[in-house]
Amino acid sequence: MSTSPRLESVKHSWGHDEIGCSILHVDMDAFFASCEVARHPHLAHHPVIIGTGSRSVVSTANYEARQFGIHSAQSLASAHRLCPQGVFLPVDHQYYSMVSRRIFDQLRTLTDHLQQVSIDEAYVDVSGIVYQWKGPVAIARWIRQRVWDVAHVTCSVGIASNMLIAKLASTNAKPNGMLLIPASRNEEFIHMFPVQSVPGIGPATAKVLHQYGISTVQQLSELSVTQIQDICHSSSLAYYLSEASHGISRRKVVPRKPEKSISEERTFTQDTTSLAEVKTLVQHCADDICLKLRSKQLVARTITVKVRFADFSYRTKSFTCPSPFTSSRYLMTYAFPLLCSLITTDHSAVECDRPLRLAGLSVSKLSAQAQTAIQPELSLETSQAPDHRFLEKSSQAEHVLDVIKTKYGDNSISFGLSPQIKLEHGEVMLKHEDHQE
Ligand SMILES: [Mg+2]
Repeated sequence: MSTSPRLESVKHSWGHDEIGCSILHVDMDAFFASCEVARHPHLAHHPVIIGTGSRSVVSTANYEARQFGIHSAQSLASAHRLCPQGVFLPVDHQYYSMVSRRIFDQLRTLTDHLQQVSIDEAYVDVSGIVYQWKGPVAIARWIRQRVWDVAHVTCSVGIASNMLIAKLASTNAKPNGMLLIPASRNEEFIHMFPVQSVPGIGPATAKVLHQYGISTVQQLSELSVTQIQDICHSSSLAYYLSEASHGISRRKVVPRKPEKSISEERTFTQDTTSLAEVKTLVQHCADDICLKLRSKQLVARTITVKVRFADFSYRTKSFTCPSPFTSSRYLMTYAFPLLCSLITTDHSAVECDRPLRLAGLSVSKLSAQAQTAIQPELSLETSQAPDHRFLEKSSQAEHVLDVIKTKYGDNSISFGLSPQIKLEHGEVMLKHEDHQE
């Protein structure tokens, strides 16, 4: 759920002058919840809350649920109290990613000047195609209809002359709306918002500005660049904020940024010291990550294991594998020893040294499958190198799992833990980087 401010006072027509308004910000409405309603139509008009586990937080709630005071990042326990009749569903990232791909692949048929900034939002620069259409508003209408046609979810679209205003416009057009801000009204529009609606002004900067009596964008716009610099101690930030406060943004739509890493982490239902429980959870993370790698046709080289302890301190360890991979079996061959070395000093232990709250994995050094030769490993710095026939068979099985998960959801099937990859951390010596806090 977007945390950008929404103001009822800006939800009106700002005029019909579309000239120069070639930036569209497209944002799905309550995306995860909408995806669930799309595949379970009987949930329409019911409060739907996405998130699982008594200690987790709300990821998304549909508009029916928001009427009960439910919002993102709220604890699920509070959400249950506020809306006991709500339908609570687990997060199914694979399914939402698949719907997202279907939507944005469709929008890319319009123009490739599309910058996807998250699973459910993108900026589209329509300046190159605006003359083939009857203006950006007609394009926005087409987008909203196409999103509905391909995914049965609604979206909101902000239409403006720059990315800053387009984003604020879409947020304030929600749900299922469209808002055009003519270029001549950018400044008047943004002046209505509190300072924290400007990207780059986080809670800390907002607090400092408040100490100087600056709480709205209009008040910020009345300061000179030098005055802003005196407050925020950064000349580049001061120039940026000064321009933004006048509704000016120089950001350009950059089509498709290459992905740098894929990560997955999960919180335990209860803090745990059970090594088996931690391994099972990390195995599930590995399965999810590798499914994403394969569906995006990427391979990875570096693995990072992360654990957060009950006292909220955390440790991570990374290792760069000898060969690029897409197989979760392969990933776990290296991730298990890394994991064990983070959580126990006793090689034969079945318990972690300290209770854990969360564990997860991320993979990086990504490259396109088609451009990366996956060499069989000639040697490994392990005393128990992976069995290649086993890995090959596992890889085939993982492809079958992909098909089933895509059809029935990511909780529909998973591998059990195989004894063949239950390497104890003492058996494998890996060169790695360790980080802790
Ligand atoms: Mg959204």
